[in-house]
Amino acid sequence: MTNEIMCDLAVIGAGPAGTAAASHASAGGLSTVLIDRAEIGGTCLNRGCVPTKVWAAAAHLAHAAEWGKKIGITSPPPDFALVRAHQNEVVTIVRKGLAGALKKRGVAFMEGEARFVSPRELEAGGNRIRFKHALIACGTKPAQIFPVVPGFYTSDTLFSLEKLPASSAIVGAGAIGVEMAFFLAGLGTRVTLLEALDDILPQADADVRQTLKRELKKAGVEVMTSARIEEARGGENGCELLLEGGKTVAAEMALAAAGRRPDTEGLALDKAGVRINMRGFVETDDTMSTSSEGIYAAGDVAGKSLLAYTAHHEGITAAKNMLGHPEHMDYRFIPYIVFSGPEAAWVGRTEEQLKQTGVKYRAGKYFVRALARAQAGGEIAGVVKVLVGADNSLLGVHMVSPLATELIHAAAVAMAGGVKADRLAAFPFGHPTFSEALSLACADALGEPPF
Ligand code: NAD
Repeated sequence: MTNEIMCDLAVIGAGPAGTAAASHASAGGLSTVLIDRAEIGGTCLNRGCVPTKVWAAAAHLAHAAEWGKKIGITSPPPDFALVRAHQNEVVTIVRKGLAGALKKRGVAFMEGEARFVSPRELEAGGNRIRFKHALIACGTKPAQIFPVVPGFYTSDTLFSLEKLPASSAIVGAGAIGVEMAFFLAGLGTRVTLLEALDDILPQADADVRQTLKRELKKAGVEVMTSARIEEARGGENGCELLLEGGKTVAAEMALAAAGRRPDTEGLALDKAGVRINMRGFVETDDTMSTSSEGIYAAGDVAGKSLLAYTAHHEGITAAKNMLGHPEHMDYRFIPYIVFSGPEAAWVGRTEEQLKQTGVKYRAGKYFVRALARAQAGGEIAGVVKVLVGADNSLLGVHMVSPLATELIHAAAVAMAGGVKADRLAAFPFGHPTFSEALSLACADALGEPPF
């Protein structure tokens, strides 16, 4: 028997976009049903940002322990079974917190596969749901470039890995590929990182790319660029990747990190009158409205910026608009963060983009090795670069540094608030810190001495 349910808002997908929208809509008085085929938290919490931070912490500690020998601290290598156990514990704690917060807000969670029946109705978990508003927040899934057999992984299956392989080949040097190369190498795996384009992290500034490539090599990762995979063979006893041009790469495990595709199959978007673009992402305007009135989309499936924290803000923007409070997404100052070792982060435009568009700028740099805090802790690799316009405004900030994924937010907030390079150069940053590199890089751009 099918149950009939009426609600103000039906949200499809309980990742960062869906949960943020459901929470805000419910707090604003909309009766809200949140639907997901799996657990609350989506890719970010269950198979992405959160579990990878446990791997990042383990790789970082292993690296720190290596340096620790210099000051007489020795420690055994990481035990992968314990890393896995901690990963599951962390995911469970965060998921319980999120589920509890949504329940408290009055959001009803429903497990099921959602499918539109009309622009005002959908089916899920044996229920027919009539809604005033719907939010499509069903995310993306990894591009499947490998055969689905043991030995070949995507980021969806990687976190169930029981044992670390002796060797691994990672295909794609975007954020996932670069992060996983650092994590796996840090935990003791021999890694080959393959990228079809002529450099890693194509969207990053050249200084970031160059510094990370050097650090990858130092970590023992073999980086192969202009290496496009044509065929993948093998399985449980080892994987073989055939590259364009005839070369082969063999490894115990292979990981596909070659981008993500919208996860909309089975949603019957046509029944709801929702338009998708040529790449399959749902078309939205900056209020997150789709082509079908009352239906919104947010997060990866909207294809604007495939980041959990963008998804969160797109979800809130959609909820505010449903509640009658007009709000528009602004993507200009969203930082990009990579949990490499050392970390990388940036906001605004790259030097290449400024050159291409003919914008006049001055570049200022400060190298991490010149910081007392870096020398004290033995983490000396990296550089902070600022790109400053004719009126001293910050056009872009690019960092490879310990804690860069934290430090970048000072730069992003400064840029969004119109704080200029001369103000940052004159601002009393704490000393000795990693943060002071931002102020010192601004001083460099303005031609001032560092002290
Ligand atoms: P991506 O699109 O960023 O990178 C994929 C890379 O794979 C590209 O550089 C592409 O040239 C390469 N590639 C594709 N096919 C190939 C082939 N056959 N042979 C060799 N190389 C090939 O995708 P991703 O790294 O999978 O990440 C997916 C999304 O998740 C991205 O949008 C990313 O920004 C996001 N993400 C963000 C973070 C973060 O913010 N720290 C972390 C992980 C993922």
